[in-house]
Amino acid sequence: MPDRYANIIIDISHEKLDRSFQYRIPEDLYAQVYPGVAVNVPFGKGNRQIRGFVIEVTERAEFDPGKLKEIDSIASDAMAIESQLIALAAWMRRNYGATMNQALKAVIPVKRKAKAKEKRMVCLIMEKEAARAQLEEFTRRHNTARARLLEELLAHPEISYEIVTGKLNITANVIRALEEKNILKVVHEVDYRNPVGHLQQTGRQVELSEAQRQVTDRVLADLHQGIHKTYLLHGVTGSGKTEVYMELIADVVSQGKQAIMLIPEIALTYQTVMRFYGRFGGRVSIMNSRLSYGERYDQFLRAKKGEIDIIIGPRSALFTPFLQLGLIIIDEEHEGSYKSETLPKYHARETAIERARAAGASVILGSATPSVDSYYKAERGEYQLLELKKRVADKPLPVCNVIDLREELRAGNHSILSRRLQQLIEDRLAKKQQIMLFLNRRGLMSFVSCRACGHVIKCPHCDVSLSLHYGGTLNCHYCGYSEPLPGACPKCGSRHIGGFRAGTQKIEEIVKQRFPKARTLRMDLDTTRSKNGYEQILSAFANQEADILIGTQMIVKGHDFPNVTLVGILAADLSLYTGDYRAAERTFQLLTQAAGRAGRGSSAGEVMIQTYNPGHYSIVAAKQQDYQAFYREEIAVRRLMSYPPVSHMALIVFASGKKEDAGRAAGYLAALIKKARIDGLQMIGPASAAVAKVNDIYRNVIYLKHRDYEQLVMLKDRIELFLKDRADMKQITVSFDFNPMNGL
Ligand code: ADP
Ligand code: ZN
Ligand code: ZN
Repeated sequence: MPDRYANIIIDISHEKLDRSFQYRIPEDLYAQVYPGVAVNVPFGKGNRQIRGFVIEVTERAEFDPGKLKEIDSIASDAMAIESQLIALAAWMRRNYGATMNQALKAVIPVKRKAKAKEKRMVCLIMEKEAARAQLEEFTRRHNTARARLLEELLAHPEISYEIVTGKLNITANVIRALEEKNILKVVHEVDYRNPVGHLQQTGRQVELSEAQRQVTDRVLADLHQGIHKTYLLHGVTGSGKTEVYMELIADVVSQGKQAIMLIPEIALTYQTVMRFYGRFGGRVSIMNSRLSYGERYDQFLRAKKGEIDIIIGPRSALFTPFLQLGLIIIDEEHEGSYKSETLPKYHARETAIERARAAGASVILGSATPSVDSYYKAERGEYQLLELKKRVADKPLPVCNVIDLREELRAGNHSILSRRLQQLIEDRLAKKQQIMLFLNRRGLMSFVSCRACGHVIKCPHCDVSLSLHYGGTLNCHYCGYSEPLPGACPKCGSRHIGGFRAGTQKIEEIVKQRFPKARTLRMDLDTTRSKNGYEQILSAFANQEADILIGTQMIVKGHDFPNVTLVGILAADLSLYTGDYRAAERTFQLLTQAAGRAGRGSSAGEVMIQTYNPGHYSIVAAKQQDYQAFYREEIAVRRLMSYPPVSHMALIVFASGKKEDAGRAAGYLAALIKKARIDGLQMIGPASAAVAKVNDIYRNVIYLKHRDYEQLVMLKDRIELFLKDRADMKQITVSFDFNPMNGL
């Protein structure tokens, strides 16, 4: 048997992650030494005994094997949280491709000093009744500024400081005066962990509906028997999923265990957080990208010390070092942001399931529009499906209508606003109700379509739309197929063919021209670039400072706007043709979630979906809000084309500063892979990446497909080993992305 060596890190709390030391593994310990295991080793000149963690086991000695020291023994505290996380990192490294260092950095926060970024909120802390009495008093005394602020706070108990002093035009003195009277409190976001101490645990707890009860009972019955599974909670928008999560978390915490709740950063609003504080008080903490490394580290420390039981945060909160983890919830599990864009390119869903498996915890995936990946697994019994089919209190789902934009063109209307949508906007403005206009737009990619017949030019091999590149060629991002841009529609001959390039700014101009009296707000990358831009626009709209909110997919999430009774989706097709196989899925999700914004209040909602392609199944299903219908069509396409989840895909990226090098390496490896004749393997490419050159780095890609994920992982391992030995490949960076989400 070949000798085995362990790479060991000694101190993982500091910047030492990069420093590992190699030790020989004594033969009698072979079976017990694997990543994550704590061991005792002799260290330094004096060979004093210290504890380290194994991060990698290898048959390759990095130095003269004769000079390597030997592991002494297995340390007894093998249950350390570090062990669990290092084992998880090793799993990620293998499953997604990366170095062990990159994987460790993803799971273990490194202590670094950074200055806190701040954001302030003005929060009402006085009981509503007392506050109302106070308001009357202010009004009687003609303290108009104070009255105005308090009135706003009664309507919206948390408002960002900038909005109070800016839009509401209230001075810092007035805020301070109300703070001194214990009416409000100015809360700094870094204090989220304990924002309004004495408001805590109002115990606001709703009585679960029959349907909610059934769902929680199913999960709790398993939990109490020690059965740990992954559940997929499919619940329509506003069906009360969050209440279900809180009920389950309460149970887990009462058993002395901890819970992690992942939500997309953009949905991590103050309102959401306060719902959890209201119920769980100071045992909750949150994490978000605005926290500095230092703060993030502090949160982890508090979790490790047992000061908190519940953490809410985006993807990275998954690695919170809870020792007795009982439950992981992933809300909006279909969201693309759960896939990491840096190495290792892990998916939080699969990684959560692996962490839960090792820790003996359960996983709940929740969504109104489950990913096709998850639904497929639920169908095959890998996940258990749970459903909430109705909105809470039987509030109706909004009515969806589809408008055929080709007919508008035929009728001589060249505007992006159809005649029907214009009428409805007029009607809502007259009724003083609010409107959201949603421009479905993603990325830089641009497809070419015919405005007369709706025809879109697709790759003859991959069934995805071709993208228009500078210079007028149409390219496929998967296989590299290319053809020139035609001058007329190949289907109907119309010359109205080209890229669709209207931005939100343009739409705002059009809306202002058509409805000069309407007050509009725009939310897109430009207007949310400032620090609090996103929350400011949402609060302003919630405060009814505007009639129409125009935005990209950003407006789909977040706040509830009870006064919104009309949602217009201006061009549903834009996400249909992003040039990757998930386009239809994303379209269905965006349309359904956007529709879910309408009619949350007491008046019913209406949704207008404008499209050049009213017959496309993702649009038909969104109109009917029929997830099953969408899923059945979509899974058939995936099966036919061997796309995930029916098959698996691995993307190999070759990057180099020299154009020829990246191309040559891709070609060379592709030839080798072909020669290996792996059963059931399909290779597409090599091709130049969708955005072939970024920051002067050229990129070429190969896509691999196989029904068995493990086969792809094994191939990756072989490629990695091969590259290690090839000096001529050193200048080329080769990286992997399994089941990629965003194309390139
Ligand atoms: P989802 O997460 O599915 O969108 P939420 O949990 O946010 O749904 O619930 C939608 C709204 O209905 C919230 O305002 C919530 O407080 C309320 N709600 C949820 N469950 C109940 C219930 N059982 N009784 C009364 N109101 C409820
Ligand atoms: Zn045409
Ligand atoms: Zn193709």
